[in-house]
Amino acid sequence: MRLCRYDDNRLGVVEGDLVHDVSHVLDRLPSFRYPLPEHDPLIAALPGLLPEIRKSLATAPTISLADVRLLPPVASPRKIVAAPVNYRKHVEEAVADPTIHHGQTVLEIDKAGLFLKATSSLIGPSDAVAIRHPERRNDHEIELVAVIGEVADRVPRERALSVVAGYCIGLDMTVRGTEERSMRKSIDTYSVIGPWLVTADEISDPGDLAMELRVNGEVRQQASTSMLLRDLATLIERASSFYTLMPGDLLFTGTPEGVAPVKGGDVIQAEIQGIGAMTISVVDAAR
Ligand code: MN
Repeated sequence: MRLCRYDDNRLGVVEGDLVHDVSHVLDRLPSFRYPLPEHDPLIAALPGLLPEIRKSLATAPTISLADVRLLPPVASPRKIVAAPVNYRKHVEEAVADPTIHHGQTVLEIDKAGLFLKATSSLIGPSDAVAIRHPERRNDHEIELVAVIGEVADRVPRERALSVVAGYCIGLDMTVRGTEERSMRKSIDTYSVIGPWLVTADEISDPGDLAMELRVNGEVRQQASTSMLLRDLATLIERASSFYTLMPGDLLFTGTPEGVAPVKGGDVIQAEIQGIGAMTISVVDAAR
């Protein structure tokens, strides 16, 4: 099932060119008093809601997919976890290009570990990536993103994929420079997910998905998740050995080679097999 969030925080199921409006199930989510829960309420409730969503599909009102404004499919992740240097050819291009590594040692992923992006950087495909530092190099990074579906603490890799609720396409936008990754990759609008969440049952092997990113029609990145140095299960094992993963947490799995700059006016198209495609505009940030 392809679940999207759209327009005024509505919930939809995408089938072909249509969105079925199943927003009524949002009334089933608990209402909260302070303090708020440490998970995304919709993703946490999803296993219980999916049967009702499925049942209402035949009678749900529909709207054309082309007419909706797509929001990030997960509204309130508590953590955005990301893997650096997780494709060999990207490691090689980072080592070879000083405008990528900026004099910093490019560690292999087992030494570099994982990093966190601020949740405030999250947008959906109908928003625009807004460049704040146009004088610097701002790169696209297409990545497979896993959405965690349950509380996951110290999960061995053998059962790590069972904690995944679904998948999205992700853009780990990055300003190159000497600052910590967590700062350079947490600029407002620098974490894009979309176009929808594909439930995990529809992706039989997340380790064998073709991906492609184009800028203004030109192919920049083309690879497969089969080339990941550390696969998704290993990343979940490693992340959850340090911190408990919560429903709605996002895991960006790393980008392949071909990272390159974008500027205001550019249009990014990103596609991952089994998930779909999305188009994102790049603009100069308003002052
Ligand atoms: Mn990345």
